[in-house]
Amino acid sequence: MEVHARRDGRPIGVVAAADADAVDRAARAAHDALPGWRATSPAARAAAIGRYARLLEQFSDLIAERVADEVGKPLPEAHAEVARAIDVVHHFAGEAARLWSAHLPAESLVTGSTVRPDPVGVVAAITPWNFPVALVLWKLAPALAAGCTVIVKPAQEAPLAAWTLVDIAQQAGLPPGVVNIVTGDGPTVGEALSTHPLVAKVAFTGSRRVAEQIAGWAAPRLKHLSLELGGHGALVVLPDADLDVAVDVAISQGYVNTGQACYAVNRVLLTPDVVEPFLERFRVRFAELKPGVMTTDRGLARHVMLLDEARNAGALVDGGEVTDGRWVHPALVTGAGPGVRLVDEEPFTPIVAVMAVPDVDAAVAEANRPDYGLVNYVCGEDLRACLETAGRLQSGTVAINGWRVVVPHAPYGGWRGSGLGTELGRPGLEAFCRWQHLRVLR
Ligand code: NAP
Ligand code: MG
Repeated sequence: MEVHARRDGRPIGVVAAADADAVDRAARAAHDALPGWRATSPAARAAAIGRYARLLEQFSDLIAERVADEVGKPLPEAHAEVARAIDVVHHFAGEAARLWSAHLPAESLVTGSTVRPDPVGVVAAITPWNFPVALVLWKLAPALAAGCTVIVKPAQEAPLAAWTLVDIAQQAGLPPGVVNIVTGDGPTVGEALSTHPLVAKVAFTGSRRVAEQIAGWAAPRLKHLSLELGGHGALVVLPDADLDVAVDVAISQGYVNTGQACYAVNRVLLTPDVVEPFLERFRVRFAELKPGVMTTDRGLARHVMLLDEARNAGALVDGGEVTDGRWVHPALVTGAGPGVRLVDEEPFTPIVAVMAVPDVDAAVAEANRPDYGLVNYVCGEDLRACLETAGRLQSGTVAINGWRVVVPHAPYGGWRGSGLGTELGRPGLEAFCRWQHLRVLR
């Protein structure tokens, strides 16, 4: 399969289209490597993952160029993605060394309980194209730390960056078979991985539709599963909020990666008295925004469809134009409410809807209305009020007075329709462990 640069269509590489046999070979390789990697001491695993992180740093320019080419994102954004993803690898190198068992004493020194973590086994990591480095390394690093071996299946739009990550893992000296990659068609490779008897866990990031298919294959085979799905982020602006901060959150997170981000702000919820002052400030920043590249033609068509539908429903749309086939301008939508698709379903395109709500209770109800729960945002000067509001939002993450939401040491995961399970943080490591209780009675 040929891979093309998104900006100019130039061919940038060729990858294999794996079939079920290729997946089987990868699963066997990963399974064969498992006993050795599982038996490696936590300290040695930590050292190996640390070497990997340092080699990724050395190759970070190359990786970022691949991301920029494949996804079409600006090079500085690709660099930022790669740098933050490498921080995650450093973090889990440290966690590998801290993965110890616990002794729960009883009457004598020999009796009691030892509780020890064991790797779940071979992990299939199925990832999307929007953050093709981060979403691989969020799975790969903790899986390796836990002692698992991994098969990566990247998105067809962006397989080269993922390929490079796996290549660097070999160069860093991770034993053969510990990190593997299969490229190819999602349904073919995805089914082969999710049904393979040697695969113990499927760690997936992507759409709800595909998640349901994967769950349908994995559940009856009792495989471990983590599903990181879409979001429909709301920004709740409390009446006392600093509107410049609120605007910064809405602009930065509404249009990040040309809206192709699961943690994007898609709805700004304001009480009537602050709507106009907010919009006045918002429009100043909005006027300076440049168009961005949509990575897929499907996303581009969806952007146009969502805005047309909102206009037909009587909403006002600023911006949103498509230029030059692949570039879209960010869009601001006012006057759209429930029933309009872009406020009900994740747009995954650069669209921010500004919605007036009677009061904070109504803002919380609207934030929680669609069946998503990944990241929400609250702005306000009274921190107690922010925390109380945040506590009522049904999402795995709530950011207060800012937009940098992801850190390696804190859990990230979707509630409700946004998924199952957690990545990053301590829970993101333990997600790759199963626990053994050794009970010594005498
Ligand atoms: P997608 O279509 O679900 O694809 C994701 C991955 O699944 C790709 O590797 C794809 O391979 C593979 N796949 C496709 N069909 C499959 C099948 N039937 N069985 C198994 N695997 C299959 O998602 P996308 O359009 O690339 O990404 C956008 C979605 O990801 C959005 O909903 C977004 O919100 C979500 N997302 C969530 C997070 C998070 O952390 N929660 C982060 C980023 C993105 P092919 O490329 O070969 O089709
Ligand atoms: Mg796809």
